[in-house]
Amino acid sequence: MSKKLSLPAQILIALVLGIAVGLACYFGGFADLTTNYLKPFGDIFVNLLKFIVVPVVLLSMIDGILSMNDMRKVGTVGVKTVAYFLVTTAIACVIGLVFANIFKSAGLFPILDPEGAEYEAKEFSGFMSTLVSIFPTNMWKSFTDANMLQVIVISLFFGGSILAAGEKAKLCRDFVSSAYAVIEKLMGFIISLAPIGVFTYMAWVVATQGSEILVSLLLVIACAYLGYIVHAVVVYSASAQVFAGMSPVRFFKGAFAAMVFAFTSTSSAATLPVSKECAAELGAEDDIAAFVLPLGSTINMDGTAIYQCVATVFIASCAGIHLTIGQMVIVVVTATLASIGTAGVSGAGMIMLAMVLEALGIPVAYIGLIVAVDRIFDMGRTCLNVTGDIACSICVTKWEGKKK
Ligand code: ASP
Repeated sequence: MSKKLSLPAQILIALVLGIAVGLACYFGGFADLTTNYLKPFGDIFVNLLKFIVVPVVLLSMIDGILSMNDMRKVGTVGVKTVAYFLVTTAIACVIGLVFANIFKSAGLFPILDPEGAEYEAKEFSGFMSTLVSIFPTNMWKSFTDANMLQVIVISLFFGGSILAAGEKAKLCRDFVSSAYAVIEKLMGFIISLAPIGVFTYMAWVVATQGSEILVSLLLVIACAYLGYIVHAVVVYSASAQVFAGMSPVRFFKGAFAAMVFAFTSTSSAATLPVSKECAAELGAEDDIAAFVLPLGSTINMDGTAIYQCVATVFIASCAGIHLTIGQMVIVVVTATLASIGTAGVSGAGMIMLAMVLEALGIPVAYIGLIVAVDRIFDMGRTCLNVTGDIACSICVTKWEGKKK
């Protein structure tokens, strides 16, 4: 028994144990115990991940740009990455809408009473002002707010400028690679604590969410999960197979640790360090993964897009609204934009759902119908979001001709 279990194996065991303990607490009536004594340890772990995520994104992106050594290469990788993100997100919306409509036509969506549904929407400030807000006025504020889009813009500017400054920037280059090496060590340590986070969060979710609401919403949740699974298999593993010649088994096995971690932490940003390990294990080139993954964890949210489409059709049906084909097109466009605007943190996708509902004139307060089970949706959508980032890093590596 001297051989240490691998991290994915530890995570799997933590997952199973967490479910078992959660079920025991749920049926034994000890749900509070998990909230009071287990969840805080999960919180500590997620705090550690959040604390490291800004330096990881900043340094890994600058380091990635520097190792490409050429701004034109950054441009081609960027274009391919964004193209992959946009195409897969649009497909995700279609998958979400198809499944939601099948469920609705089959009468499988429970019609909940919108009375009593309460949810106060955050204001969505519009596309142009969102665009403007991506550009920071004070970079320290971007760091302290962990505003990832701004951190990415800062990384692009600094990475590009260090390249442009050539020889004179040698000190900066060395500083970035040395600081990144330190952050990688720290990241490795924090990741090794992942099984604790997975166990405690899983026990807490199972113990607290196993209530009747879950049963009545089970079909809507099942619909979203079907969409997540189909997208993961048909789009991600297929693209890894077609473009990188990687078998689905190999793909999912390699991405497993990040998928489980995303599933339990419900944060793409917090999962970033684990995704990096998985992408490297699957053969993604370091400099490409360093560029694709942070960007993906911020703007590539196909799970969120599927959830938003399913939730919109469900909420419309509860409100007695029948969506026309034209309105479905609006759903695809707004859910694509909303998913891009969704931050890679827990629960963000539900906040952006308000934007899709508003575009259709559906009262946003109806989100209250599903708010109680959002975490269950969130677990699956975050898992899919992260899987998409890893698949993209493998495909772009291949397109850049770098995979051995
Ligand atoms: N939690 C998701 C993520 O981090 C975002 C969402 O809420 O949809 O990827």
